[in-house]
Amino acid sequence: MSEAHRRQGHGRQDHRREGRRGTAVVVGAGLAGLTAATGLAARGFDVTVLEARNRVGGRIHGIEAAPGTWVDGGAAYLGDRHTELLALASELGLKTTPTTMLGASRFALDRDPDPDPDPDSAPADRTGTDTVTGTATRDGRFPPLNAVALGDLFERLAQLTAAVRPEAPWLTPDAERLDTLTAAEWAEQHLSHPDARLFFPLFLGEMCAADPADVSVLHLAFYLRSGGGLRYLNAFAGGAQQDRIDGGAHRLCERLAERLGERVRLGEAVLAVHQDDRAVTVRSDRSAYRADVAVMALPPLLADAIAYEPALPVPRAGERTARGCAVKVHLVYPAPVWRDHGLSGWSVNARGPLLSTVDDSPEGGIGVLTGFVTGAEAHRFGALTPEQQRAEALAQAGRLFPMLPEPVGFHVTDWLDDPFSRGCYAALLGPGDWTRLGPTLTAPHRRVHWAGTETSTAFFGLMEGAIRSGHRVVAEVLDRG
Ligand code: FAD
Repeated sequence: MSEAHRRQGHGRQDHRREGRRGTAVVVGAGLAGLTAATGLAARGFDVTVLEARNRVGGRIHGIEAAPGTWVDGGAAYLGDRHTELLALASELGLKTTPTTMLGASRFALDRDPDPDPDPDSAPADRTGTDTVTGTATRDGRFPPLNAVALGDLFERLAQLTAAVRPEAPWLTPDAERLDTLTAAEWAEQHLSHPDARLFFPLFLGEMCAADPADVSVLHLAFYLRSGGGLRYLNAFAGGAQQDRIDGGAHRLCERLAERLGERVRLGEAVLAVHQDDRAVTVRSDRSAYRADVAVMALPPLLADAIAYEPALPVPRAGERTARGCAVKVHLVYPAPVWRDHGLSGWSVNARGPLLSTVDDSPEGGIGVLTGFVTGAEAHRFGALTPEQQRAEALAQAGRLFPMLPEPVGFHVTDWLDDPFSRGCYAALLGPGDWTRLGPTLTAPHRRVHWAGTETSTAFFGLMEGAIRSGHRVVAEVLDRG
């Protein structure tokens, strides 16, 4: 158990022993809200959790890929730096399982011929290309593109990342300028090689489900730094994708909710939050709850959709705050057959719908290939009929992995149009957002406190950030006295 858990008596249902400290309404039963509610309940608060959906977990969602076998329709991966998440999993009796990445990768990066091939990298890069499908097979995950151009891209990103102030991005040297520029404009200015221009949006899609036009350079640099740096965020073994929760990440939320029991009320969408001198009243579409404090554990675009009286001095989102764009596709097979052909299941593709694929098969069972549809492609794919989505995804998977049999299952999880997420993996902070909204990110509005992964400057956008925001808000509420 981590020190933070110990301090907050995390998970202990002993509030009667500690005595009733006050009343709290937590809005949102995602990982942040459930962590906050558990911590407050353990410290003697009378807690009510209001959740709009008919399930807990928010952006963490289990899908039954085959009877009794669950895969992650939302968040999946974690690494050893996600210390609060690992502590929580262990305390809840959940194990982790490694994300398999053995064998060669596939790359379908069809593009105009390289005008400036790097003499050292070109011959090796082009080996193993299937001339019919244009798909290259290569050991490791480095794409068969101009190595010098990609090295230059990563070096530039590393410099931006090193310069950012992670705990207060708005105080970064040159913050105003970096916060006016979108990542797309930055790429236009700094990336001259076509391979770097081709790879940059794919990289952003993979890292943060972002279209480069949607995020400011300051946000991009902050996001990479907050998550542990470019290398850590991008890596499987030794990085942020190293493991998954055995049986699905949703089990974290289900177990927390079990502990909270009847305190969690599902199917209650909160519409308004009113405060007077004595209390805060949280109104849902069903009822009203009066409490000493409210904890809003929602993504910023959804927190802003609630009516506050008195009004918020600064909104939670700006005019350019965008939805992260990701649709997850799960293709289920009797076994991970690609492994028999020396392939890892990992692919990166210039054209959609599946811009990348990864092997998410549970150990010793069915084969699960997860496809990520991100950025602008997610909008196009999301607008197709289910039949069209299936046909496009299967056709592409067949080109990438010709050995695939007919799938025994096919699931699409679209987060863009989900009214209670409005995108994922996390909100994308656009031009002006960090400099305007950053300084009040966690500042309470009288009796209203803020949680959610987007309020965490450490591991922003990740499960770890959600848990840390929950811990922070518990400490904040206790400090009110
Ligand atoms: P949420 O989970 O969004 O919780 C907010 C809750 O509030 C929701 O339950 C929602 O229903 C509820 N709500 C909304 N509006 C209202 C209202 N008006 N009234 C009441 N309730 C309301 N993270 C990782 O660490 N690793 C990954 O591999 C990863 N991959 C991801 C892939 C996808 C496809 C997605 C969707 C997310 C991914 N993430 C990943 C991000 C991770 O899921 C989030 O960072 C984390 O779950 C956020 O938790 P939260 O509690 O802050 O917000």
